[in-house]
Amino acid sequence: MRGNKSKHTKPELLLRKALWASGLRGYRLHFKKLAGSPDIVFSTKKIAIFVNGCFWHRCPKCNLNLPKTNTEFWKDKFDANIKRDQNNYVKLIRSNWTVLTIWECDIKKNLKEQVLKIESLIKDVNAYSITTNEPLQLAAEDLLTYGYNI
Ligand SMILES: [Zn+2]
Repeated sequence: MRGNKSKHTKPELLLRKALWASGLRGYRLHFKKLAGSPDIVFSTKKIAIFVNGCFWHRCPKCNLNLPKTNTEFWKDKFDANIKRDQNNYVKLIRSNWTVLTIWECDIKKNLKEQVLKIESLIKDVNAYSITTNEPLQLAAEDLLTYGYNI
């Protein structure tokens, strides 16, 4: 559960629009069967993309200040967010998923570059045949049954 991250955020919509314009289709949105419900999922290629807001997910590039009031509360909350994100990425990677994190600021700065990143990732996955024949359902159930802790 990501209580703090709403679906269909503005950066996510911008990215999806750009993907559509580039002819990239066939992905799922907010795929609940996977750890962290990745925002954009190319399931046959096992690519999970998270579009992260810089404030909530504590973008390392933006390095935003903590709120001045209730600083301890926010620090704990953000630390928990970071830890949850990392847990989700580890779960996916251990199930042979390729995880790509795209930050809100990346999208604002250079949207086209993010589309190119996704395009080349899809090509790479094809080139090296990382995908397995194992049904996606099974992998997702494994994740739920055997949670990993880091
Ligand atoms: Zn950022």
